[in-house]
Order: sequence, then structure tokens, then C-alpha cells
Amino acid sequence: MKKKMLRDIDVAGKRVLVRVDYNVPQDERGAVTDTSRIRETLPTLHHLREAGARIILVSHLGRPDGKVVPTLSLEPVAKELQAILGAPVAFARDTIGPDASAKIAALGPGDIVLLENVRFHPEEEANDPTFARSLAGLADVYVNDAFGTAHRAHASTAGVAAYLPSAAGMLMEREIAALGRVLESPKRPLVAIVGGAKVSSKLAVLKNLLPRVDALLIGGGMACTFLKAKGLEVGRSLLEEELVPTARELMDRTTRDGVRLDLPVDAVCADRIDDAARSVTVDAARIPPDMMALDIGPASVARFTNTITGAGTILWNGPMGVFERRPFAGGTRAIARAVAESGAITIVGGGDTAAAIEQFSDPARFTHVSTGGGASLELLEGRTLPGVDALSET
Ligand code: AMP
Repeated sequence: MKKKMLRDIDVAGKRVLVRVDYNVPQDERGAVTDTSRIRETLPTLHHLREAGARIILVSHLGRPDGKVVPTLSLEPVAKELQAILGAPVAFARDTIGPDASAKIAALGPGDIVLLENVRFHPEEEANDPTFARSLAGLADVYVNDAFGTAHRAHASTAGVAAYLPSAAGMLMEREIAALGRVLESPKRPLVAIVGGAKVSSKLAVLKNLLPRVDALLIGGGMACTFLKAKGLEVGRSLLEEELVPTARELMDRTTRDGVRLDLPVDAVCADRIDDAARSVTVDAARIPPDMMALDIGPASVARFTNTITGAGTILWNGPMGVFERRPFAGGTRAIARAVAESGAITIVGGGDTAAAIEQFSDPARFTHVSTGGGASLELLEGRTLPGVDALSET
């Protein structure tokens, strides 16, 4: 099933409803503090403007839970987009309603309007068909460029596609292609680095990746469940006792399938998680009973780096430790550096890992840094995203 891409459809002069993910971070005064989610949509916007489409942007911002929350208005985002584009961007004070209709009617070819926060309507997250049909009534064509929200089946991300010809936007296309290539035809060896808090939230990813990878590196809190499965004691570390047998099975599978498995061989431990915590670095077999393993240590970094250095493709999802706190950031920082310098094709899952790269490295040094945490995770699990699934087929 191949989905239509923006380039496959005729948009000249048409009213095009584009679902974008402008769920940008703001400071307490409402100023946008990071514009990357806006910038990521520029290829789609430039394409539509050049084709003379009338562009209607729809997005959510935050979690207003179906109510009008003035601090979650998208109006500051319209101003930001206008500044970035250097072209006027109109703002509609409703999503469907008189102001949206009037502003859309006033659009000329290449003009843009951003509608008010779609999640002010409870029907959005409920994927209400009547609401989806009303959204569809605003336009002639639907384009989904909101990769970060594509794992949600909401009215503006999926439901609306039932009522209009549709296609994936250019950001969506880039995201799916990058992750798809890793899963289907990676340059080998393919090395997956998986970290983060819990095994339970990454179990489906691990199961989907295992048959595809040549090496698997496990760090973060989730590594503790694997250390326990190896028979080591992990003190007060994050441990999912009930998943120890699953971890053992996964480890056996790596041995059987000839997949190299790197687990931490040392750990940075402390008895509390804060910036002033006193930490000790110990062998993974000697985690003190009253402490938590909160980062991988230098010997683990060396071991992981050795595997990373020989990779053809590296897929990275999840930090190596509690990188938000200075004493436990070293492992994630070192791995970010090793991945950036590897010379491999480097694909980074969104969310925390993207934030870590932003903090410790330069996203431009990676082949692809995904803009969607949840959506990239679901693709890595081998699942189909509802926001993509709903689109027209070629
Ligand atoms: P995830 O959303 O599952 O990728 O988890 C990311 C979170 O895992 C980050 O907020 C980290 O602080 C946390 N984390 C990473 N390593 C550890 C660890 N060793 N112990 C507790 N939390 C961790």
C-alpha cells in the first residue's frame, strides 16, 4: 500500500487543509522558545505556495482537553510563522466557525491562514465524524504533515481524510522514509542503541528490532532489568522484576541469532536524583544495595563506542542515563559524540533523545533526527501510524 505524497497531487488554486504539528514550547509569557517544529514544515509550505494553493493550517497546542484555554491559543504561533516566512499569515479565532470561513474565503493563491487550536473542540481527540466532516468542508484537499501527532487517530489527523482526497506532506514523507530505510534496507552493520527509563515501554521496539540488527546496545534505566537477568544485583535502581524473564529471553535470542549485545559493564550510582548528588562509579557487578544506577560509566562508554565505530547505520532511541541531571549526563553526552563522529548513517528517535542531542551535540551532525517521539517509537515497533494509514493510496 503506497500512500500519495504531496508531489503526487494537484493543488493549484485549491484550498488545502494542512495538519501541522505546531505544538511548540512557550515561555510563561507565551513567546515561542523553540521554532523547529514550525521550520520543519517549510518545505511543504513553500511547495504549496509555489503551486498557488490556498493554505489552511490546522494544529493543536498543549492539552486544553476540549475547552477554550486562552493561554493555549495558536495566535503567537501565527506571528512566529509570519516572521519566519516573511509573508503574511492570517489567524482565525475559531477552528470551524464564522471567522475561519471568512478568513478562508479571503485567501488568494499562495496565501496562508492558521486556524485556532483544534483541541479546543472535544470532538478532535474523540475523532468525531461530524467534526471531521466539518473540517473537511473547509477545503478541497487534505495534507497531513504532522508526523509528531501521526500516531493519534484524531479528527484532524485521521478522520478528516475519509472525506477529502489526501496526501502526506514533505516532513511526513521524510520521517517515514528515514525510519523505513533503517528497518527495510539498512547499510550494515546496523547498530541499535536503546535506552530510557523502562523496558516495558521499549519492549515492542526491542522485539521488532532484534531480527533486523547486527548489534544491540542497551543503556538507561532499562539496562538494570537486563543486568538482573544476568544474575547481578541492582540495588535501588529502576527494576521491572516481572520483565526479568523476558529480558533473559531477549538475551538468549541475541546469542542464538548472532546479534552482538552490549550491556553496561559499569554504572554511575547515587542514592538520590539531583544535581548535587554525590555519585560513585562502580563495576556493574558491584552496584551498592542502597544506591541507584543512574548512568552508564566510562568503561561502558568505551565498549559501546567500539561497537558504534564500526557501524554502517545507527539507530538511537532513549538516553543512557538521567541526562537531565548533571552528575548523570556523561554517558548520554559521550554516546551522542560517538554517534555524531561515527561516519555511519545516523537516525535518532525523537522525544528525549532529540532533546539530548540538542543539548550535547548538533542535530545537523546526524543524518535524521525525528521530530516525533511517540510516532517514531510506534514506527520502530513496526506499527502503522493512523495518520498515515488514513491517507489516499496511489
Ligand atoms: P524514555 O521516555 O523511556 O525514553 O525515558 C527517558 C527517561 O529515562 C529520561 O527522563 C531519563 O531521565 C530516564 N532515565 C534514563 N536512565 C535512567 C536510569 N538509569 N534510572 C532512572 N531513569 C533513567
